[in-house]
Amino acid sequence: MKEYDTIIIGSGLGWLSAWALLSKKWQRILVLEKHYIAWGYATNFKRKDYEFDVALHQIWAWSYWFKNILKKAWVYDKLEFIKHKYLYESIYPDFTIKVENWNWRKFRDDLITLFPEEKSWIKKWFFILRYTWMQIKLWDFTNKYKIFFPFVMIFAPILIPFLAFGWQIKIQDLLKYCTKNKKLQKAFMELLGYYWDDYNLSASTYLIPSYWFYFDWWYWVKWWWQAVSNAFIEVIKQNSWEVLINYEVEEIIIENDLAIWVKTKKWEFYAKNIICNASPFILYEKLLANWSWSKNELEKLNKFEIWMSLSSAYIWINTLVENLNKNFEKSYIVNFNKDESKENLFWFTITTYEDNSWIPIWKSVITVVFFDKYETRENLSKEEYKAKKLEKIEELTYKLENIFPEIRKHIEVFELGTPKTMERYTSNKYWAIYGFSQKASKLWNYGNETSIKNLFLSSAWCFWWGFEWVIRAWNEVVKNIKK
Ligand SMILES: Cc1cc2nc3c(=O)[nH]c(=O)nc-3n(C[C@H](O)[C@H](O)[C@H](O)COP(=O)(O)OP(=O)(O)OC[C@H]3O[C@@H](n4cnc5c(N)ncnc54)[C@H](O)[C@@H]3O)c2cc1C
Repeated sequence: MKEYDTIIIGSGLGWLSAWALLSKKWQRILVLEKHYIAWGYATNFKRKDYEFDVALHQIWAWSYWFKNILKKAWVYDKLEFIKHKYLYESIYPDFTIKVENWNWRKFRDDLITLFPEEKSWIKKWFFILRYTWMQIKLWDFTNKYKIFFPFVMIFAPILIPFLAFGWQIKIQDLLKYCTKNKKLQKAFMELLGYYWDDYNLSASTYLIPSYWFYFDWWYWVKWWWQAVSNAFIEVIKQNSWEVLINYEVEEIIIENDLAIWVKTKKWEFYAKNIICNASPFILYEKLLANWSWSKNELEKLNKFEIWMSLSSAYIWINTLVENLNKNFEKSYIVNFNKDESKENLFWFTITTYEDNSWIPIWKSVITVVFFDKYETRENLSKEEYKAKKLEKIEELTYKLENIFPEIRKHIEVFELGTPKTMERYTSNKYWAIYGFSQKASKLWNYGNETSIKNLFLSSAWCFWWGFEWVIRAWNEVVKNIKK
């Protein structure tokens, strides 16, 4: 049985930073991944000769920390980054807005042009975003210089109101206070597509990322996210740490209240610390099924709402998008809000506008993402599931035809990844890409610690959703790991 300082179960996004930080502690690390490729959702996949990026579209909070994490982990120089010209384009029933990368002033002025009577509220909204940022900065400062902590806490209602209380306030209540104009509310809430279009979301959950969205650069990694993954693996291998793919962990053995070793089909591995990147459901339902406290932990988990699920359509076409519709010049993400209902809301990315180095120059890739309910596919027979998928593909092709006339005859490949597909690949329950709900009334942060001292959790289920927060969650874990 081989011995390590730390074993990481699953190779989802966050372990890159964990690895970088653990390596500073000179740890011997082993990563065990059940899939045949590392990186969880943040990876590429191939269908015949066609390659697609599964999930992540953009890198944000670039200046704030992401760049530094990549540098710290020695992978920054191995990668190429492309700056988006536009952040997104939104198409509403009666207006369209195109937002430039880190040009919030232009966005604000465009909104004022569209809604002149709302000028002062628009200005206030941007003030709120900046005020959120000041609070984050102050909080970071207080964490660094703890002596100021009591002062900041006493004046919390003035100094950090959103950080202290915004978690319990619904974003729709804050919005109503700002403007009653429904169209403007929509334009303010454009990021809500990332959050199940749910106006019950906690105000802080919305405002904090919104600041980064408009007030920092957004980037795209050349050769997609798999390039980041490969860069990490290269560095890890150079340093003789190990990543074993096709190694599904089947059990964690607990002895004297400590996690001692893990079992896979082929081998068993011993470690002083274990970090579980797989979801807490996998941990307690499967890996610790024989541990006496698992039942209690599962009861706790089941009380909380699991959040949203998506489907993604990956489409290669044998022509350039501009040949079908010139309007989307350089638009990377397009939010399509023509129909007000949530069921019909979708957004698409024209991937090849940003990077076409991996595809013949006369072809394009479009990825369409839309909310989807896991339950709709849960109990279907194989044939029913297949039929439902074909139905959805037809429906989406029809919708796309309204935007890109004649797209149908140019489609070379149309792959649909449903919640079920994603669950199959990552084992995440209900393909919950963001873990637990972040609604104001339901807000829940599972945290990284378990009642087993040397067993930690780290994934989108633990801290907050999305890739920066997954990375941040890992950093929290690493702080607790001792040599
Ligand atoms: C279509 C789509 C679009 C998205 N867009 C964005 C975006 O624009 N911005 C953003 O911030 N986020 C986005 N996300 C969300 C983001 O991808 C996820 O929140 C994040 O990647 C989750 O990472 P994770 O580390 O929690 O785990 P996961 O990616 O779920 O990885 C868990 C890993 O554990 C492995 N595993 C499970 N069980 C075992 C076992 N028993 N043994 C060994 N290994 C195991 C799995 O195979 C998997 O590799 C998107 C997600 C999707 C699907």
